[in-house]
Amino acid sequence: MDEFTRAEILPFCRPDIGEDAIAAVVQTLRSNWLTAGPKTAEFEQRFREYIGCRHAIATSSGTAALHLAVVALGIGDGDEVITSSLTFCATAHAIVHERAAPIFADIRAGDYNIDPDAIRARITPRTRAIMPVHIAGHACEMDEILELACEHNLHVIEDAAHAVGARFNGRHVGAIGDATAFSFYATKNITTAEGGMLTTNDDALAERARLLSQHGIDRDAWHRTEEHGSWYYEVQAAGYKYNMCDVQAAIGLSQLARLENFIARRRQLATWYTQGLQDVPEIVTPTENANARSAWHLYIVRLDTNALRIDRNQFIAALREYKVCTSVHFIPLHLQPYYRDVYGHRPGDLPVTEFAYERIVSLPLYTRMTRDDVDYVVQAVRKIVARHRR
Ligand SMILES: *Cc1c(COP(=O)(O)O)cnc(C)c1O
Repeated sequence: MDEFTRAEILPFCRPDIGEDAIAAVVQTLRSNWLTAGPKTAEFEQRFREYIGCRHAIATSSGTAALHLAVVALGIGDGDEVITSSLTFCATAHAIVHERAAPIFADIRAGDYNIDPDAIRARITPRTRAIMPVHIAGHACEMDEILELACEHNLHVIEDAAHAVGARFNGRHVGAIGDATAFSFYATKNITTAEGGMLTTNDDALAERARLLSQHGIDRDAWHRTEEHGSWYYEVQAAGYKYNMCDVQAAIGLSQLARLENFIARRRQLATWYTQGLQDVPEIVTPTENANARSAWHLYIVRLDTNALRIDRNQFIAALREYKVCTSVHFIPLHLQPYYRDVYGHRPGDLPVTEFAYERIVSLPLYTRMTRDDVDYVVQAVRKIVARHRR
């Protein structure tokens, strides 16, 4: 350890839970209503207003929201859904759970998002949907994706786990495709510890998804049947236990109120990173397309490994020596044993995805980071590059 190295580890990520969230949880615990109730309904309403969509259904996780969308759209046996491989496994699992096949399309080198031309090349008579993943909080090329969907009569289910607050052509992600799944996992831009949200503008889809999220139980049945009492309910489908609870929603309400400030802070931190690294040719910094407002969930840099004598893994280890924690988003799904073996994928199937995977590193990015933290990471990166430059 040299004089430069900080004493404390700089974590990769850290939630930002305010005293207001803690007070809201305590108040909810004291209210005697713990599970889905008034707080969940209020969180759904505020979320709907924020996104500018017709329906928001709070769920137990982002994974549950993705799965609900697949089931509610009737995707099943023998169907194909086109998505990217550079994503978390939950994206493709939601497809596999309904016995449909995830078809991986390659990404664009610039922003790591699914390439519309690659989607087009993968469409077959069995394709039922496109599942774009807004990686790092930067929206995919949604105009082209919606056009393809329209042309081939496909559904668009967006994995917006990284993208709460992201916009495309001025519209919020969540008000664009047929259905959008958000995650409020502890590492995401806003959190409920565990939780998610499904949004849609389609009334029938929303009704179906809500029913399926609560065991297929129609809570309103007793309203319609006057002779029955409040104990009466009807099971209309073999649904799931996917609802959010009021304790989570209480945290979510306080987080949502702070979301715009969170994004502004993340943008500021990203700007400082880029200012500190843009003159280092061995480090390719992330950019924002003119038609997109990124939610800046991640700050992904790409190493020019030809210009360095170390690879990505050694770069990560070198940053760890300086007490900086990083991550990789993601190990491509088509290279994971399950997807490789079951779907017969091989290295080389998705060249742009694999090229990116071997070179990307996500630097720490969270609202409670300071300017000094960013400057420290920048200096550490510059030292490592200078030491290992070819
Ligand atoms: C976090 C994440 C999910 C899953 O969200 P959970 O709330 O953890 O279920 C899905 N897709 C992507 C890309 C994610 O990062």
